[in-house]
Amino acid sequence: MARKIGSRYTANQILGRGSAGTVWLGEGPEGPVAVKLLREDLASDQELVGRFVQERTALLGLEHPNIVSVRDLVVDGNDLALVMDLVRGTDLRTRLDRERRLAPEAAVAIVADVADGLSAAHAAGVVHRDVKPENVLLDMQGPLGPGGAHPALLTDFGVAKLIDSPRRTRATKIIGTPDYLAPEIVEGLPPRAAVDIYALATVLYELLAGFTPFGGGHPGAVLRRHVTETVVPLPGIPEELWQLLVQCLAKAPASRLRASELGARLREQLPLLVGMPPLDVDEPDSEDEEESGQGQGHGHGSGQMPGQGSRAETYDEVAVPAGERVRRGAVPLVRGAKPDSNRDTHTSMRVPGPDELAGGALGTARVPRPAGAPRPGSARHRASARRRRVTLGAAAVVLVAAVGVGTWAALSGDDAGATPQDTRNSAPASP
Ligand code: ADP
Ligand code: MG
Repeated sequence: MARKIGSRYTANQILGRGSAGTVWLGEGPEGPVAVKLLREDLASDQELVGRFVQERTALLGLEHPNIVSVRDLVVDGNDLALVMDLVRGTDLRTRLDRERRLAPEAAVAIVADVADGLSAAHAAGVVHRDVKPENVLLDMQGPLGPGGAHPALLTDFGVAKLIDSPRRTRATKIIGTPDYLAPEIVEGLPPRAAVDIYALATVLYELLAGFTPFGGGHPGAVLRRHVTETVVPLPGIPEELWQLLVQCLAKAPASRLRASELGARLREQLPLLVGMPPLDVDEPDSEDEEESGQGQGHGHGSGQMPGQGSRAETYDEVAVPAGERVRRGAVPLVRGAKPDSNRDTHTSMRVPGPDELAGGALGTARVPRPAGAPRPGSARHRASARRRRVTLGAAAVVLVAAVGVGTWAALSGDDAGATPQDTRNSAPASP
């Protein structure tokens, strides 16, 4: 089932499927490569293709041992492909699913690697914007590091931003995966380097605990927790490590460490973590929350959302194509809005207003259902990270802000020359 990609590459075998497309094991003039063939709907978006070409330089320029380099970008007929370094191994989500929690030493070593990669990217002015375990690849052919961890490489640079094209988003939507979204993004600020630090700290917490600090329940509830809730200490975590986590999960972006500093501070901790077993942390019990109508998702959270039980049926009423299982993260917040055509990638929903974020929109969090008993149209919940991956984790969630559709449409035509760097989103929305 080999296929030609442009004139230089052949895609031989599918390595994996992601939200943006399919990744193939390919062959190029310089040997084996990984080829990410973007989804058809993305590839046929002329404006996206334009940006793709525009951003070539920034993407191709990133070279670091902890970054999966993009070697080439191919625009060929209907194909739009990123040619990347081939990493022989697995992604961090797969490892986490297998082990549930990592020993602190391995977790810290992996996250320190990613921090180093981020540091190089940030120095080049590139913000990743979708740091999550799915986008960390573990190079099984690389040397074993502290805690038996293989080298970790951050992948998918630029992909979030490509999909987050002006026409699709332009100050009216934000993109990312809810569990890892920094509070300033939820509040509508442009994504700067500190959003990657917040996401990476969330990943570290997840590797240690087995679940993310603010995940669980409806995406809207997750977003609100990022803004309003504080992270609760993990039992048994070494104090210094906890302090690092807290600092990087700070609500104020300026309070977070820079990537290079985070990498260095994490590596300092490694000798103290040798031989420490995975933390003994209780998994949040979603079933109990279901029974009691309390959907915090992770039992240690402080902010219970009153009223959510009463509005839960709203989400059961969302129409879905017959036979399709609706999964958490695919449910529009706006009643009557259609889930995106590819639910693994986008959820279109209205961004909660400031008053709602402050607690006015109680009831947007979906009451979790027992894992085995989804109702058609219902958002499903399971506290495990695995479920989050399948639903939200694999998804870049697009939030349509409460800006009129007319405004959005009016803005769509004038962005052809949008700047390739992240300055684009810093412009305030036009009136
Ligand atoms: P998406 O980001 O579009 O959801 P991913 O980048 O996660 O897709 O790719 C899907 C799968 O393809 C990954 O889980 C991984 O198994 C495989 N993969 C992605 N990039 C590479 C790579 N550079 N080398 C080897 N395998 C890769
Ligand atoms: Mg990815």
